[in-house]
Amino acid sequence: MRYHGAVIRPPSEASSLIVQVTYGCSNNTCDFCGTYLHKPFGVRPFEEVVDDVIGLPSGVRARVRRVFLADGDALVLSSRKMHDILDLLHRALPSLERVSSYANARNLLAKSVEELTGLRQNGLDLLYLGLESGDDQTLAGVHKGMTVAEQIEGCRRASAAGIELSVTAILGLAGITRSREHAKATGRALSAIDPAYIGILTLMLTPGTAMERRVTSRELVLPDSIGMLRELREIVAGLEVTDCLFRSNHASNYLPVGGRLPHDKHAMLAALDKVLLAPESVQLRPESWRLL
Ligand code: SF4
Repeated sequence: MRYHGAVIRPPSEASSLIVQVTYGCSNNTCDFCGTYLHKPFGVRPFEEVVDDVIGLPSGVRARVRRVFLADGDALVLSSRKMHDILDLLHRALPSLERVSSYANARNLLAKSVEELTGLRQNGLDLLYLGLESGDDQTLAGVHKGMTVAEQIEGCRRASAAGIELSVTAILGLAGITRSREHAKATGRALSAIDPAYIGILTLMLTPGTAMERRVTSRELVLPDSIGMLRELREIVAGLEVTDCLFRSNHASNYLPVGGRLPHDKHAMLAALDKVLLAPESVQLRPESWRLL
């Protein structure tokens, strides 16, 4: 398998075969994201994808159960190209059970529910989407390039098509001045999306990004670790979801919290309240241990 540049995937895809079908991200505007700063967006020639997949040793092909399509928003590909890729994967990988990729709202809004249903029926099972915030002012401030309403509608189409969603939001994204609004609105937007998985990350400053420059110049002042946990509590308190695996155990977070919602909501809130009332009673992840 050949890869162009650094390739990332969600932690839950650690054991998946990563098949690169695009390069970079078709959006690439977000102030906080340094992943594709130096990788212009492009579509990988399909022939190369075929060569890589067919070229795997047959013993490896027989064992692949999960595939993650890289890079940053493989769903930007047309439905025809996505079907070509899914057909190839099902032909070449006899044990394949799940195909997933990153996606953004614009990718989803470019496809009808019928098109997405066709992709679901051809094996596209799960999409990872970065909501980042449920607050339009915060999204505009970090140049996400998509509104909350667009993100909710894009996700609605995926859900209507039967595609599972894993949605992430980022603590600290609005700085201290809009911290509460960001958190409250994020709880509301996540509830409206009602995904199968929610992941909460804490903002990390990537060198070379606009966000790093804004924080370094003090144009944006970030909440401290306790302020980040207050945002997390506000998000959890606002969540009204049907059946969701909630995690804030990413390496960027100061405190791992997780559970199945709505069942574990009160226990999660109680755990967070305990920390917020007596921060010295808990060992938060040291700043130097936090990772992207
Ligand atoms: S956060 Fe997502 S949409 Fe924004 S630039 Fe990074 S990969 Fe692209």
